[in-house]
This record gives sequence, C-alpha cells and structure tokens, in this order.
Amino acid sequence: MKISVVGGGYVGLVSAVCFSELGHDVNLVEIDQAKVESINQGIPPIYEKGLEEMLLAHAGKNLKAESNFNSIPDAEIVFICVGTPASPDGGADLSMIASAAKSIGIALRKSERYHVLAVKSTVPPGTTDLVVKPVVQKYSTEGSMSSTNPSVNIGFVMNPEFLREGLAVQDFMKPDRIVVGCSDSKAGDFFVDVYKGLEAPLIRTSLTAAEMIKYTSNAFLATKISFSNEIGNICKGLGIDVYEVMKGVGLDHRINPHFLNAGAGFGGSCFPKDVSALIHIAENIGEDPVLLKSVMEINDRQPNRMIELLEKRVGDLRGKRIAVIGLAFKDGTDDARESRSIPVIMELKRRGAIVAAYDPKACPSMSKIIPDIFYYTDPSDALKMADACLVMTEWPEFGLLDKEFDLMCSKIVIEGRRILSCKDAEGICW
Ligand code: NAD
Repeated sequence: MKISVVGGGYVGLVSAVCFSELGHDVNLVEIDQAKVESINQGIPPIYEKGLEEMLLAHAGKNLKAESNFNSIPDAEIVFICVGTPASPDGGADLSMIASAAKSIGIALRKSERYHVLAVKSTVPPGTTDLVVKPVVQKYSTEGSMSSTNPSVNIGFVMNPEFLREGLAVQDFMKPDRIVVGCSDSKAGDFFVDVYKGLEAPLIRTSLTAAEMIKYTSNAFLATKISFSNEIGNICKGLGIDVYEVMKGVGLDHRINPHFLNAGAGFGGSCFPKDVSALIHIAENIGEDPVLLKSVMEINDRQPNRMIELLEKRVGDLRGKRIAVIGLAFKDGTDDARESRSIPVIMELKRRGAIVAAYDPKACPSMSKIIPDIFYYTDPSDALKMADACLVMTEWPEFGLLDKEFDLMCSKIVIEGRRILSCKDAEGICW
C-alpha cells in the first residue's frame, strides 16, 4: 500500500520503518529538515535497538522522508504521529494535531481517490471525530478544484500505538494487539490491510473507544508502578525486600509480574502526560479521579525520597560532588523526556551540589533540558572523587559497574532502580 506518515519522532519513524519492512511504500513527512536529511541517509535521529539496520535497508528505496506534504494525495493511508504534549493545565495540547490535519486537508484538495486518515498519536476521546475530521474536511474542500467533494472520500481511523521505547521495533512487529477505531466500516475494512503480515489480535472499536483504550492502558500501567512504589516505601520501613514480595505477588496470573518494579517512579513522554490528561478529561466531566491523582502524587514524591536518603547519608549537599548515573527515562533509549533524573538533578542543583552525570545514550538529550551540569562519556569519570552516587536508570550495563565505585571519595551509592550488583548500595525502596 502507499502510506504517508506525518511526524517522524519515536512513534512516526519506528512506524514508517516497520511499515516499509512489511513491504509498503512509505513517505515520512517531518517538519524538521535535519531529521529528514538524517533519515534519508539511513541514520536514525533517535536511538532504538534494531532501527538503524532496518532504516538502512529501506531508506531511499520504499522509504523516503520529506518536509513537504506532496506525497499525501498519493497515499492510501495517512498516519498522524505528531506529538501531543501536556498543556499548562494538564490537558493534552492538540495544536500539532490540528496543524498536521490542516496541512493534510490542504494537500488533499486536489485528490479524487479514497484515503483513510489514521490518528496514531495519543489523543483525548473525541479528538479524531471532533478535531481532526472537521479540520481535514474544512481544508480539503476549501477552494477545491475537484469535481467531487474530497471530504466524503476520506475515512477516519484511530489506531493507538502501544510500543515501548527501547523495544519499539520489536513491539511494533510483534504487538500484543492492534486496536482499530473507525468512523465507518469502509474505513476500517480498508485500513486493516496495512497490518497484513503481523500476527496479533485485531480489535475493532468506535473512534472514541480506541482513544480511551490508549489512555486507560497507560493509566493502568502507571498505577501498577505507583502501587509498587507505595508498597516498596512501606517495605523499606519494615526492613522487607520489596522485590521478594513482588516476585511472590506477580506470579498470580490475575496480576502478572510486569511493571511491579519499585523505584524512582515513571517518566518518559507518555505516562506522566497521559495520566495528567486523563485526570483533566475526568474533571472536565465533573468526576474526581482520586486514584489517578494519587498515582501522580506518589510518582512526584519518589524523586524527593532519593534526595532525602542522600542527605541522610552525606549531610548538607552544598559543594558536594554527586554522580548521577542514568539520565534516560528508561534503559534502551536516548529519550530523557520527563525522566525521573530531571527533578533529582534540579533539586541537587537547588541545594548547591555539583552534578556529574553519565548515561550511555541520553547525555545529548539531557543537556538540552539541563545544560549547566557536568556530562561524562565514561561512568568512571563521573564517579571519580564523587561524594555520593545516585543511579536513576536501569541500563543493564550498570550491573557490571564494580571497581568504578572505588574511585569515589566516599562510597555512598543510592539506587533508584534495582540494577547494581555491588552489595553496599542502598535502594530507594529496599
Ligand atoms: P516526538 O515528539 O518524538 O515526535 C513527533 C514528531 O512530529 C517530531 O519529530 C516533530 O518534528 C514532528 N511534527 C510536529 N508537527 C508536525 C507537522 N505538522 N508535520 C510533520 N511533522 C510534525 O513524539 P513521539 O514520542 O513520537 O509521540 C508521538 C505521539 O505518539 C504522541 O501523541 C505520543 O503520546 C504517542 N505515543 C508515543 C509513544 C512513545 O513511546 N514515544 C508510544 C505510544 C504513543
């Protein structure tokens, strides 16, 4: 099939590359010219395991990136994969969605063929029907030279994405399920062929149910994490190993072992903003989502616990050199958006500490968020002469660190993720 993917970030680029791997002709539309050039040269602008090899195999063949919308009229399916960040009021900022929908609408003015427009971005229930559809219809018909009205030739689908950064290619190619919300059965029937070749249960729903499935999934996973963190904090107070507890709990098939790892909390570009957006959506209809608010409150508190434990061990932080090991919001990615290391570093700075940071992939992205700390390309350099160390990301390679800790001034190590093999580290909840 001929596909256009609008937005070439973590979701758009991975989707475009994987759809080209499935044999489709893919045009990736990305407004950032530097990303376009990099993608066309076969160099992914983000780090994702397996992405580079796949991109190299398809770039310039059945995958092309461009910064204009010229490919849209030829596309049978157009995906919207632009960002939906949090607004200051906690709701989802849909300005990029509206802008992409407008550009797509304008591009479709001259088209007479049938297109399906699929929203892959995470959007509040109602967005596809009440924002995307009217904007596309307005701009595709305005001043149209076409003899037919193109707006009737566009079907609308909401196809949420569930990939995990760090495992995005694997998750895309082997999804647990594919959710297809559609405006009408013609759109749904036409659309589902794009996933031919993948083996996964396919669930067809209304547009709004598909939108709600994505928020509900993220809210549930975030709840599991905050629940585990609360239990972890209690366990620490009682001198119990929360990891032993959760091993026993997770083997119950009604619970399952995933997302029960207590630690410094959830970050990333999805969970914090999506739980906040769901709270906002609930409050807008007069509900008081107490559970979701607690999930966020527990998550906001965990980084402070890292600082409290640190201060208990080293005293006043002014002038102390603190190594922060792990900046990405999770292992396997260079993405530092909403990483739990951000509030930790900000608080260290506020208290006058000198921050020496290391991450295998995320130093460049963190240096855009917090430029004025010391970044190192080797963990030994960050640890050298440090008064204490905080471990903030579960990179497996951190489990191999051992003698590097001997370079510290005093060997005080506090883990926000259970990953180290050295015995004398203290855990946030263990
Ligand atoms: P991102 O910020 O990494 O990428 C968005 C891209 O869209 C950027 O490269 C940006 O330059 C581009 N863009 C913005 N406006 C554009 C326009 N008008 N035309 C063309 N390109 C445009 O975001 P992301 O992490 O890929 O997330 C995208 C959406 O998918 C969000 O709604 C997010 O919640 C959702 N999502 C993300 C993940 C994830 O793990 N990152 C997983 C599932 C769903």
